[in-house]
Amino acid sequence: MASKRIPLIAGNWKMNFDHLEATYFVQKLVWLLRDARFDYSRCEIALMPSFTSLRSVQVLVEADRLKIRYGAQSVSVTTQGAFTGDVSADMIAHLGCSYVIVGHSERRKYHPEDDANIVDQVRAVLAAGMQPILCVGESFEERRQGIELDFAVGQVHDVTRDLSDEEAARLIIAYEPVWAIGTGMVATPDTAQEAAQAIRDDLRETFDAQVADTVRILYGGSVTSRNAVQLIEEPDVDGFLIGGASLDADEMAKIARLT
Ligand code: PGA
Repeated sequence: MASKRIPLIAGNWKMNFDHLEATYFVQKLVWLLRDARFDYSRCEIALMPSFTSLRSVQVLVEADRLKIRYGAQSVSVTTQGAFTGDVSADMIAHLGCSYVIVGHSERRKYHPEDDANIVDQVRAVLAAGMQPILCVGESFEERRQGIELDFAVGQVHDVTRDLSDEEAARLIIAYEPVWAIGTGMVATPDTAQEAAQAIRDDLRETFDAQVADTVRILYGGSVTSRNAVQLIEEPDVDGFLIGGASLDADEMAKIARLT
């Protein structure tokens, strides 16, 4: 079946750009895409700034009716109350966010985010009407042991198995092998496809077949305009979660045009 999934190019800015830099970036990206007569119906573009920049991005997007989307990089699992420093899913949704990254390997490493917490984050994001971008992927060690597919599929399975079909259909999954993140060691198209296909096959077993056909599976890890074309040709790769290259508006525009 030819894919009807619209590709998503999501820029994960991590802890970069204050709100002034974020504003400048959005304007530059939009102008580059306008110059290139970019067709937003062919490919969706999303930016994931830090919490401090979300409001600025929202104001810009709404004032100029921009067609880019945006979201947050993490979320609290609690809804409100005495949780100093936390930001709830409703607060994020009220800023017009479409997406929230959940379970990024940097969050799993530097914060106490285990599977149980990640399940709660997914539920919180869905309940607030947004889509989680659930990140999974093996480390170099798991790949060395030859258990990379079981590992990545297991991460998806453990987090999603109790979701309903309707909830699961709203997921976006990012396959991001940890060894590829920020290292310049991009996965080959075959490697990305193999993992994306294994994840989709597992979704097909767990949920309605339509869920597996609907869920977008992104690849993340050292994506640039030089390797994006080959990766996006793979049938189960539906776009990218981009870190380093997403900090360069020219690169983001180029990747979007190539996708
Ligand atoms: P990278 O990061 O593109 O810099 O490898 C990807 C990510 O962490 O989402």
